[in-house]
Amino acid sequence: MHGAALAALGLPWRYVRLPIPVELLEETVRALPGSGFRGANVTIPHKEAALRLAGSATPAARAIGAANTLTFTADGVHADNTDAGGLIDALELPVGGRRALVLGAGGAGRAAAWALREAGAEVSVWNRTPARAETVAADLGVMHALDVRPALHGVDVMVNATSVGLRSTAGGADALEVLGLDGAEPPLVVVDLVYGAQPTPVERWARAGGARVVDGVEILVRQGARSLEGWTGRSAPLDVMRGAVLRRGVG
Ligand code: NAP
Repeated sequence: MHGAALAALGLPWRYVRLPIPVELLEETVRALPGSGFRGANVTIPHKEAALRLAGSATPAARAIGAANTLTFTADGVHADNTDAGGLIDALELPVGGRRALVLGAGGAGRAAAWALREAGAEVSVWNRTPARAETVAADLGVMHALDVRPALHGVDVMVNATSVGLRSTAGGADALEVLGLDGAEPPLVVVDLVYGAQPTPVERWARAGGARVVDGVEILVRQGARSLEGWTGRSAPLDVMRGAVLRRGVG
């Protein structure tokens, strides 16, 4: 996706994979700018450590407590969490004053809850393990939903930020059951962060109920677009990025 975008922008840059052991993260990141790197995406298990080592960070990265993007500037390492802004970009819907329900209280759920709250939505978070949702709710000043079905009443936007629907977790009708969505009416807009097995069970449920669906590929593209724009200062070629993801497949 990034390779295709850089080529479309006419930049002779490369996006490369750097597997790094936890204990070498900091010294590797410190060495990257001197080796010509403009920035990096960071993923599990480095997201929290990446934020800690950065000299500056966006409010999103600070509030979420994790970074997925580092940009190297003359002032040092700058951290961002583009999962948050990418979600809002992908929604293409003003969410101020709307009600949102986030399923999942892992890293993606926390980012989604913060992004929606920042955009002015009234947010509730549900999680299979309630204590994690309670922590996210307390940290971010949002509500904790104990049961999905009653929490769905009056909701405009629902985000599946659990890993349910990936092949390795509950994959079919049981996916809807574990999330408490079986037999429920979907809200206006349903976002499913899960990608790799489109259409996911949540996506199928949402479409069957007439909801507008924002899928995991679109979220992937939008968070990537924000990272790319931070590194290059150029507008991201969204269609090129989408095309690259769909051609290569995900997962
Ligand atoms: P994570 O921190 O490991 O959290 C996993 C979440 O899934 C937790 O809330 C967990 O609940 C829940 N879960 C797992 N199995 C479950 C089951 N059988 N029933 C109910 N809940 C279950 O992972 P993450 O980083 O937040 O990512 C979550 C998903 O979002 C992944 O599928 C990831 O690929 C996707 N994602 C996509 C994008 C994108 O760009 N499209 C970006 C970020 C993440 P417990 O707390 O109860 O275990």
